[in-house]
Amino acid sequence: MAYGRGNAAPGAVRVYEYGVPSAPVHRGLLEGRDLALAEMRRRVDLWNRLVELDQADREAREAIMGPAPVDAEGKRQRRQLSTETKAQLAALDGETSRRVNELCQESGCYWPNYSEVKAAWGQARRRPGELRFHSRAGRVGKITTLLARGLSVADAFGEHGFLRIRHPNPEQHPRDALVSLRVGSDERRRPVFVTLPIVMHRPLPADCLIKSVSALREPLADRERWKVVFVLERQAGTWATQALDCPRQGSVALDVGWRRVPDGLRVAVWRDDEGRTGELILPERYLEQRATVERLQSHRQTLYNETLTALRAWLSAAAETERPAWLTEDTRHIAQWRRPGRLVWLLRHWTEQRFKGDEAIVAMLEAWQRRDLHLWQFEANLRDQALHWRREMYRVFAADLARRYASVQMEDFDLSQVARIMRPAKADQAENQLVAKARYYRVIAGVYELRQAIRNVCDREGVEIVVQAATNTTAQCAHCGSLETWDHRELWHTCSQCGTRWDQDHNAARNLLELATAGSSGAETAAE
Ligand SMILES: [Zn+2]
Repeated sequence: MAYGRGNAAPGAVRVYEYGVPSAPVHRGLLEGRDLALAEMRRRVDLWNRLVELDQADREAREAIMGPAPVDAEGKRQRRQLSTETKAQLAALDGETSRRVNELCQESGCYWPNYSEVKAAWGQARRRPGELRFHSRAGRVGKITTLLARGLSVADAFGEHGFLRIRHPNPEQHPRDALVSLRVGSDERRRPVFVTLPIVMHRPLPADCLIKSVSALREPLADRERWKVVFVLERQAGTWATQALDCPRQGSVALDVGWRRVPDGLRVAVWRDDEGRTGELILPERYLEQRATVERLQSHRQTLYNETLTALRAWLSAAAETERPAWLTEDTRHIAQWRRPGRLVWLLRHWTEQRFKGDEAIVAMLEAWQRRDLHLWQFEANLRDQALHWRREMYRVFAADLARRYASVQMEDFDLSQVARIMRPAKADQAENQLVAKARYYRVIAGVYELRQAIRNVCDREGVEIVVQAATNTTAQCAHCGSLETWDHRELWHTCSQCGTRWDQDHNAARNLLELATAGSSGAETAAE
């Protein structure tokens, strides 16, 4: 049955990702690459304008509300807002949203792009913390075409106004396709497209609706990688790869969090309702890869610092009169140069206007640049490989869970984990090193990605995910229920009440599972 347009209830959504072969990108065959890059830059600029607006809005809000009242003990109290204050705040909201729309219009972005930036900004504002400015350089760039009501795959292979896909050579290269995304209109209101070649290693399912298509550009050292991402919608349940009547049963509880163990980095501990238990450990080899990336990074930093020191020494040795004015001007803020990019920029400028006596120093700078570029590419490729490997491990683990169980229990968020490792830092160096180490492991564990992989596969396969608000899963003894206190960096703990010795992550998984069984048996009783 074909999935009709617009009349069906919202279905399940999946993402199909296709790589853009790098050769055509570099050979300049990527039609409209400059158009895409310009739109990506406009999106970044718009985001930054919105961040400024957000800051102004927060300040204005504070000014209207005045300081928060404080009670006798100095605690902040809830504000009681007067009708007048509320009216002022409503006026401010109105003014801000008017300004948002103005900025979107002024940005020059095509509407799907400013809509997406605006939506992302709205979401980011609701999260705690300040919004960050984005830099144009070194970021993933994105352009999108939105097909809000959905476009059938068949129509996408036609002459649609927003998205066109075609196979330029279907007989010889059936997997090669060209995707054109609309990025604007010309003066006669005809669509302007950006076209990217992709390799369609798997076809778009014919019974889908295409909801949006994005082109992404990821920096990879001095190169770039492009990909095209389709968001597809289908009737709920139809994405599953495993028939729904397959024997999937029972539930499994998953304690997600990172912890260094002898054979790697443990990122999850699981326990099922038949008492089976296990761990997901990122192997030592992965940690070594990441450590190599770190070493390369710090090695590059060292080389950079040395080169900069040598350059500064040379500059101060050469009398003001001997060096050209542009060089003095260019290097005015050299004391603040933190990134290799500054030096690369200087060198480029310098090679355009060589002068007598600069041979040795320019040769040194060029040698540094060649070496740095090599190290940078090496570092970026290695990081890329490691991330790819981790993603694969997480996918396989998640698929395995979804194959076996009908229900997956997880903790609310890694907050408990954060608490386990991020103890309030004393002004103690050893302590700070521990915290730095913990942060490092948090980054390389990427448990967010694990949770996402589990979520994706469970959504697709129709496996229930139960997210538990896990307040005491770590502190409570799963054997006797005693609430324990101890330094949570200690993995093992002996219960002060029943004397059971347990690994705190296994204990947490056991508690989670218990919460789940308690919950479901309660529900069954209620149903009877
Ligand atoms: Zn106990």
